[in-house]
Order: sequence, then structure tokens, then C-alpha cells
Amino acid sequence: MKIIIHGGFFSESNRNQETKIAKQKALSEILAAAYDYLQNHSATETAVFAVSLLEDHHLFNAGLGSQIQSDGKVRLSASLMDGKTQRFSGVINIEDVRNPIQVAERLAAYDDRVLSGAGALAFAREHGFHYFNPITTQRQAEFEEKRNQANRKGTVGCVALDRDGFLAAATSTGGKGFEMPCRVSDSATVAGNFANTHAAVSCTGVGEDIINTALATKIVTRVTDGSTLKAATKKSFVELAAIDGFAGVIGITAAGEVYHLDSHDYMVWAAFDGSLQVFN
Ligand code: ASP
Repeated sequence: MKIIIHGGFFSESNRNQETKIAKQKALSEILAAAYDYLQNHSATETAVFAVSLLEDHHLFNAGLGSQIQSDGKVRLSASLMDGKTQRFSGVINIEDVRNPIQVAERLAAYDDRVLSGAGALAFAREHGFHYFNPITTQRQAEFEEKRNQANRKGTVGCVALDRDGFLAAATSTGGKGFEMPCRVSDSATVAGNFANTHAAVSCTGVGEDIINTALATKIVTRVTDGSTLKAATKKSFVELAAIDGFAGVIGITAAGEVYHLDSHDYMVWAAFDGSLQVFN
């Protein structure tokens, strides 16, 4: 059993040491809870569990505490991919729910598995997801000062390998912050979140760069074709650098290889791979 989570890119890191330490502490606590959960649950259940905890933590840009789009609204995107069934499900730009990753999980049982906007919200309400306002006073103040322009990275993710050897990836985001209303992030696409029986990957960074390089799918495909996760990720990051891309990834293979890489050394992440590691 292996697990790795990320708390997204942390652009405040060179400005606010206190927030950085608080994020690292939160990541290590959530990781410990999720690793415990993994003992008796599948990779998919665990990925949803971990991402829900990250969504509930106000410091991360997903669920509570998400970034605000340029029209003053929070729109959330999240996706889940079960590597065993190879099913991808997600919500794009859903409003007023607490845990978009759980709506994505619920959608996994349906034929139509990725819903956006009003359709996603209607589905959520029909399935008992109540009204929730994810705007924190901190995010509102940032929005009002338009500081988001310099502070617009985030996202959370989890990749898990369960005791049966199956993998899953889950990713959730409040987006870049101050973006055009209804802009679509990578997080609920196969570029930002992908898994099969060989590997699973979750991304953070500039969604457009991640989509332009089909990052998560490409890394998983390379592993499927025989690369190690490290080699697959490094090669994909050479391609990312060729377009001046900005991204971070976490991943695990069915063989138990755990790896992470970021293009700009900002990603906050934590892994349990026999022993706890927490890094920025
Ligand atoms: N990938 C997210 C987006 O572009 C943001 C992030 O990961 O920081 O919406």
C-alpha cells in the first residue's frame, strides 16, 4: 500500500513562511488519516477520502477556501479515476457544494460521468449534496484586493495503491483564481487526472499547460508501455519545458514506485512510502 497527496502549487511560499508550515502540517495530518483509511479501503475510496479532507481544509484551493473567479463566483472542478475499472468521472465548474470530489464519485456509477455547471449542480442536489458556500474571508479579501493575480495556484490531489494492487487518482480545484467565468481547468480532464492498472497520476499547475501536454495521460501511457514512473515523468517534463509549462505531478505505479516532480519547485506534497515524507 502506498499513498501520495499534494496541496497544489504554493506561490505564497516565498512570502509567507507561516502558511507554508501550516500547509505542510495539514498535509502530514491528512496523509496519516488517509494511510490509516487505506488499510481497509480501496484506492478509489481512499483517494476520495483524502481529497475530501483536503477540500475541507481552508488553506487549500479546493472546496472550502477555493479561489474566486473574476465575476466573484467560486466554481469548483474535481475528478476521480478508478484504475481498476478505468472509469473517469468528474464535475466542472460546479457551484455551492462542499465536496465536489464526492459528487464526482457519485457520478462514477452513471453512463454520463462528467457534468458541468447547472447540470452538475442539479445532479448534486438530487443526490443529497446540500448548499455550501466555500468562500472564506481570506479569499474574499484577496479577491477584493485583486491579489489573486499574483496568488493563483492551488489544487489538491491524491494517488493511492491499495492492498489488492489497484490504483486510483483524485484531483480537486478552485481553479487559477480571477480567471474568466466558467474557464475549464485541467483538474476534471484526463490531462490533469488519470489512472489505469499500471499507474495513476494527479497534476497541479497551469491548467492550460497541463492540457497542452496531456500530462497525466501521457505519463501513465509511458508507464503502461514499459517506462519507470520517474523516466516517464522526466520525459514528459522535457516536453512541458519546451512550451514553458508550469506543473507539478504526483504518481504511483502498480509495482509500488512513488514519484513526484514539479517544474518550479513550489508544489506542497506528502507521501507515505514506508515512512512519512513531507516536502515543499
Ligand atoms: N490546475 C489548476 C487550474 O489550472 C490550478 C492549479 O493546479 O494550481 O485550474
